[in-house]
Amino acid sequence: VLPGAQELLAGLNPQQEEAVKHAGSPLLIVAGAGSGKTRVLSHRIAYLLATGRARPGEILAITFTNKAAAEMRERIEALVGDPAKNMWISTFHSSCVKILRREAKNVGLNSNFSIYDSADTLRLITLVAKGLDLDPKRFAPKAIQHKISALKNELIDDESFAATANYSDPFEQAVASVYTGYTQRMRQANAMDFDDLIAQVVFMFQAFPAVADSYRRRFRHILVDEYQDTNHAQYVLVRELTGASAGGDALVPPGELTVVGDSDQSIYAFRGADVRNIVEFEKDYPQARTILLEQNYRSTQTILSAANAVISRNPDRPQKRLWTAQGDGERIIGYVGENEHDEARFIADEIDRLQDSEGLRPGDVAIFYRTNAQSRSIEDLLVRVGLPYKVVGGTRFYERKEIKDALAYLRVLVNPDDVVNLRRILNEPKRGIGDRAEYAVAALAERERISFFDALRRAGEAPAMATRSVNAVAAFVKLIEDLAEVATGSGAAAALEAVLEQTGYLAALRQSNDPQDESRVENLAELLAVVREYERDNPEGSLGEFLEQVALVADADQIPDAPDEEGAALAKNQGVVTLMTLHTAKGLEFPVVFLTGMEHGIFPHQRSMTDPKELAEERRLAYVGLTRARKRLYITRSESRSMWGQSQYNPASQFIQEVPAELIDWKREGAERPAFTSGGFGSSRYSGSFWGAGASEAQRPATSSAPAAVRAGRVQPQKEIIALTVGDKVSHTSFGNGTVLSLEGAGDKTVAKVKFDIGEKRLLLRYAPLTKL
Ligand code: ATP
Ligand code: MG
Repeated sequence: VLPGAQELLAGLNPQQEEAVKHAGSPLLIVAGAGSGKTRVLSHRIAYLLATGRARPGEILAITFTNKAAAEMRERIEALVGDPAKNMWISTFHSSCVKILRREAKNVGLNSNFSIYDSADTLRLITLVAKGLDLDPKRFAPKAIQHKISALKNELIDDESFAATANYSDPFEQAVASVYTGYTQRMRQANAMDFDDLIAQVVFMFQAFPAVADSYRRRFRHILVDEYQDTNHAQYVLVRELTGASAGGDALVPPGELTVVGDSDQSIYAFRGADVRNIVEFEKDYPQARTILLEQNYRSTQTILSAANAVISRNPDRPQKRLWTAQGDGERIIGYVGENEHDEARFIADEIDRLQDSEGLRPGDVAIFYRTNAQSRSIEDLLVRVGLPYKVVGGTRFYERKEIKDALAYLRVLVNPDDVVNLRRILNEPKRGIGDRAEYAVAALAERERISFFDALRRAGEAPAMATRSVNAVAAFVKLIEDLAEVATGSGAAAALEAVLEQTGYLAALRQSNDPQDESRVENLAELLAVVREYERDNPEGSLGEFLEQVALVADADQIPDAPDEEGAALAKNQGVVTLMTLHTAKGLEFPVVFLTGMEHGIFPHQRSMTDPKELAEERRLAYVGLTRARKRLYITRSESRSMWGQSQYNPASQFIQEVPAELIDWKREGAERPAFTSGGFGSSRYSGSFWGAGASEAQRPATSSAPAAVRAGRVQPQKEIIALTVGDKVSHTSFGNGTVLSLEGAGDKTVAKVKFDIGEKRLLLRYAPLTKL
């Protein structure tokens, strides 16, 4: 063994060393979190080079995220230096892009093909479906998109699906025809979607054995991290690359395959990941060698015991013995906030305290949450106290598309001359005002020297406008004018509710099957909570003033992710607090971790309440979260949370109860509440009026001590439309007393004209803060 190689083995435990040195047959390393799987992978690569068993160009290392790939490259560079540059260390997707750029002609594309993201893909699918006269209400384009993606992950192309689809099922029939049309259009557009990237490489390898052989000859060592989260297409890709699929007929002897993973950390089933790939590895590769790692080097015993206790509740899993030599360390600190702001305040205070007393740097800290929407209250507080942070794998709250769209509407209601925001929402959601109509209106505005909004009003005068477009524009103008009335008459929150409902924006998201759109709905609910809170704190405030405040927060939000040269030194020493969802935290580690929002219905997520499989996946996610912590772990939740536009009272997550009580030191404990019966809690979330679906008095257990928000009378019960007749005396929270002059419309849409001292107002009863006197 070369001297360099010997050094690489120093500091590894016997199992790790064995895994690094193993040669000659496929290797599976299975082990719990923090046991050095990723480290073994890096050392194994360095060892292959140091012993001359491989040249850098023969190595293909695949990780789950770009961040993980960058980190692995860094680790390997530290071990072997420059030669690391010639290795492929990347995600499945980027390796496949590289291959496809070289081999584009084999799949009938130019090498400059575009890659369509999910939004582009959806646009095209919608177009194709429209061309086929499919009713979007019956066959939601999102649902079709989801299905096509799933088919691609299963390596079923349009032709095979057309040949095997169940045509007595109208949905399958629709998918079959859209899939065919979509595939043709993608080819014409010289484009690939994300799922194509993997599937096309597999199809190409199968169709052109010589091409496949050239890659098998090149990549003699293939190493895959986080193997438990591979889907079927990725699994087959690995088999193709190693030549395992060719069986005894391969021209090239099989490459060496190393996979590492942990079935307890499988958290991507919703994207087609299949744990069978790791569980049945030995069946797939009969000569495989399996090595178990049992020592955890990452965490204290306390953290490990908590994580082990939680994951051991999952059924059908082999028990693992994971131990650490690090000692017990600190107890886990628990905190129950009165509300999410109190929870965020505690987190910021603790970071502050640890900075002062233990020299902790912001870069040592990570804050995790289950859904993106939860980052908002934390971000707000970090901005206010001036702690630098970054949001990983998600966009900052106010930069998210749905938030920008909603705010664009509100800005237009306040200022119809805001042409940028006006044009942003002109056809959002789709209402048949295409680019051509938009340009015609813009030209009219220029010619007549009028504002864009005035030009919209006079769209009929624009040359070359189709009647359909003129009608669509007229409907849009009317919509904006109606909404503007809600805004002036009933305030900011009512305006936002009306925007989301009357524009069809919310309906479009809720119809969709895309899990991303579910989180968009959650984000919008969160925005509504922001507005309501603003109105509570500023009873006199207007929509315009609210928007100004938001603009300032959003601006303070713009801390650059990658600091410039001068900032770099500071960032290196200090770093910034990292905010991310539990899903993006996989594979990472931090000295200090906050697991926030540990509430029943949030984490575990509402969706998993009725499905034991989903609950098991949520528990694995909890295991991933707990095991990211090295030295200090915090578990927080809050008694009330205004996530859904109203205060909700979530009991503690069952995952907290699964942690042995003696491991947690509670700094503030919530009021004890009896467990909620499964039907009573939360089942109303998706029923009835979306915005009204908070916890009502009736749903709250009778014995609970009323939280502060209730005592302060800040919880608004679900609003009923008040019954009024002409002549009734009413009281409005802002306009004072008045008399009803007339009533139009019915139900949700009832509008009352009311005479107040300050003048006459038209009020949409659904939203107006009115009481009958
Ligand atoms: P996960 O399942 O979360 O991906 P993992 O099994 O990949 O975890 P690593 O990230 O490789 O674990 O290792 C966890 C930590 O333990 C790292 O900081 C790593 O450097 C350290 N570590 C691993 N093995 C050893 C060792 N033999 N000696 C010292 N430190 C080690
Ligand atoms: Mg790892």
